[in-house]
Amino acid sequence: MFLNNKRALVTGSTSGIGLAIARALAGEGAEVVLNGFGEQSMIEGLCEELGARHVGADLTTTAGAERLMGEAGPVDILVNNAGMQHVAPVEAFPPEKWDAIIALNLSSAFHTSRLAVPHMKAAGWGRIICTASAHSLTASPFKIAYVSAKHGLAGLVKTLALELAEHNITANCISPAYVWTPLVEQQIPDTMAARGMTREQVMNEVLLARQPTRKFVQPEDVAELALFLCRDAAQNITGANYTIDGGWTAE
Ligand code: NAD
Repeated sequence: MFLNNKRALVTGSTSGIGLAIARALAGEGAEVVLNGFGEQSMIEGLCEELGARHVGADLTTTAGAERLMGEAGPVDILVNNAGMQHVAPVEAFPPEKWDAIIALNLSSAFHTSRLAVPHMKAAGWGRIICTASAHSLTASPFKIAYVSAKHGLAGLVKTLALELAEHNITANCISPAYVWTPLVEQQIPDTMAARGMTREQVMNEVLLARQPTRKFVQPEDVAELALFLCRDAAQNITGANYTIDGGWTAE
């Protein structure tokens, strides 16, 4: 297994895309550190399944990110995946939601990266992968904080790629369109309210309308690409932003 003797930290990995990535990395022998919230029994079950540890730090704070990195120990693969969404018109967008989304979806990736890089440099090998979004490349109304944070994340990754290029450390974004996870399910009621639509209309006229393939992306599709980016064959892939968006951003 090609990730034997590598430690991987995946933020936001108790659910959805992060969990699929954690499973894929563990499946190739990585020692996985999970992060994220959820029922204690569910988290214990995941730790057992993956032979993983869990650090439940809240990544909306700098202190939380620092605690996570301290408890995780040196990591060879860092997957910045934790994220949240809020849907509202700009004039009604709660400032505290803006702050939380920028903190989690953007600033936490800065904090985990700055704390992970010294070990990666010393080891002469590292992989930083960020789950960005089609919204790192294009916008949608009513998602001002999310779109701003994800565009920022794309810039963060390009900067990391340039700074770390000579250290055998790559940094890349994976940018999916809609993946059927709790994050998407939970934004349906607010989107119904913001756009005056029924649930069916939100599914077909907002979510899948943007994806020419008319199919939700699967968490496992994202995990396969993350796994590939950890391979030696991907050593020259850095600073990239890979879409898995059914053609959305090709329009
Ligand atoms: P999800 O809601 O299923 O999972 C989110 C994870 O983040 C969970 O493990 C949750 O516990 C954790 N989390 C939430 N708040 C946290 C906090 N304050 N500190 C630490 N962990 C926290 O969501 P998902 O759809 O799997 O999303 C994962 C990533 O993928 C996010 O960055 C999201 O923006 C991105 N993304 C999702 C989609 C999609 O359609 N689902 C599309 C593009 C990008």
